[in-house]
Amino acid sequence: MDVPHYDWIAHHAMVTPGAPAQEDLHSKRRFTYLEMHRRIDAWAAWLQQEAGVRPGDRVATLCHNSTDANEMMFAAQRAGAIHLPLNWRLAVPELEFILNDATPTVLVYSEEFAPQVAELRGRCVLPHVVSKRDGEDSGYERAIAAGLTLAAPPRPGLDDVWVLMYTSGTTGRPKGAQITYRAQLFNAIHATMTTELTRRSRGLTYLPQFHVGGICLYAMPCFHIGASVAVMRQFDPQWCLDLIGTPASGITHLFGVPTNFLFMSQLPSFAEARFEHLVSVGIGGAASALSLLKLYADKGVLFQQGWGMTETCTIGTLLSKERALDKIGSSGQQVLHADLKIVDPSGVEVPTGQVGELLIKGPTVTPGYWNRPEANATSLADGWLRTGDAAYVDDEGFYYIVDRWKDMFISGGENVYPAEVEDAIFRMPGIAEVAVIGVADEKWGEVGRAFVVLKAGSGIDADDILEHCARHLARFKIPKSIRFLPELPHNATGKVTKHALPRE
Ligand code: ADP
Repeated sequence: MDVPHYDWIAHHAMVTPGAPAQEDLHSKRRFTYLEMHRRIDAWAAWLQQEAGVRPGDRVATLCHNSTDANEMMFAAQRAGAIHLPLNWRLAVPELEFILNDATPTVLVYSEEFAPQVAELRGRCVLPHVVSKRDGEDSGYERAIAAGLTLAAPPRPGLDDVWVLMYTSGTTGRPKGAQITYRAQLFNAIHATMTTELTRRSRGLTYLPQFHVGGICLYAMPCFHIGASVAVMRQFDPQWCLDLIGTPASGITHLFGVPTNFLFMSQLPSFAEARFEHLVSVGIGGAASALSLLKLYADKGVLFQQGWGMTETCTIGTLLSKERALDKIGSSGQQVLHADLKIVDPSGVEVPTGQVGELLIKGPTVTPGYWNRPEANATSLADGWLRTGDAAYVDDEGFYYIVDRWKDMFISGGENVYPAEVEDAIFRMPGIAEVAVIGVADEKWGEVGRAFVVLKAGSGIDADDILEHCARHLARFKIPKSIRFLPELPHNATGKVTKHALPRE
């Protein structure tokens, strides 16, 4: 058997061929490492020989989550191509922008996106377009069934780019963060070291696979060590709770954004759910309300809160289970292979305990954005990535993410971090979800506005919230207006999209 170097799946197909590699929960397909390896090989060979994919070419996917997406990521490696997973929630003009920026040779799409793809074909150069139907007859399955063999595998090195992942573009046009093989390898090492991941572990994927969360937490670390992965098509709170709240599912590892855990906690069956069998439950990607962390702690879930970004191939800091309670609210300590520092606006390191901008350097950090020399010049200097996050570190090296710099607002000359205000409001019983933003104000420059979703029958009004805030927050932090909404806007990962909230 020819085992390409650094190819995790090929390695496990040789060492533990019959071990479970992945399961597609939607289509009920299961693959051992050997089966996965063979499918990857056949698809990689098709890319190379039928589509003419050469090293460095991009292969795009516009797909719902499935085990196929993991195959395609490893096939990109074998063909020497760059995996380009697209966010299917984007509108056609947004996809058009990305496709024209990244110019892929191949686009694979789930058949439900056929209308968007038909439009895109008229707007972008797409040399090869292949449909996919979760294991059923489709261009993708026929390409695999052709059983071609790779000729002269390109064997990319650790500094080569494996994934091109476009950021959500909340601060302008989306940028393609380049993620290297080295970044994936080190992220897998970090996840394994910090979450007790072994070959017997079973990770659950429900974050979208066009986001680092759906790839790196913890599918890639599982594939690196030879564990198994279950893939959910999309996050479904009830299905997810049924899976993770039942030992028989075998799930041991999962990671979610706070909204995932919030929505599960609001289901009636949460009360009976049992979580003792879970080895590691990660949370991060956005600020977590303390009361949410405590609610799960009361049910024995020791959340490992982590901080990371697309540009850091996820984990930059992670809280250990041992310190999950006494450091609750912290995003943990830095991973082994990363340097972190917190600086003031002039770039000078601030003392312990003081808030500044978080910077990170190390093997998981992106070498830069695709085609964006100006963004690279402002975000990356000497390998240090400017994260745009406001944070402080305590004297034991535990990091606390205060908020995104751009979400901070200044009211009457005082800095207000919305996450702190949200945390205070969320402590009121009867609040289902809350988001705070700064809006222009003639007197104070900016003031807070809270958007609140109430639990059914809570009977809370704006005055109750303002009174509660007055008891828990300094005056300048108290929102000047409260608006009630039936739900908050979320992006595909589940994070609240604050830019979509009305400022007028
Ligand atoms: P997006 O901008 O689409 O959310 P990312 O997934 O790359 O893209 O988001 C990374 C950002 O998520 C970080 O810069 C930070 O603002 C936020 N974040 C990540 N982890 C945490 C955390 N534990 N607490 C608060 N915010 C976090």
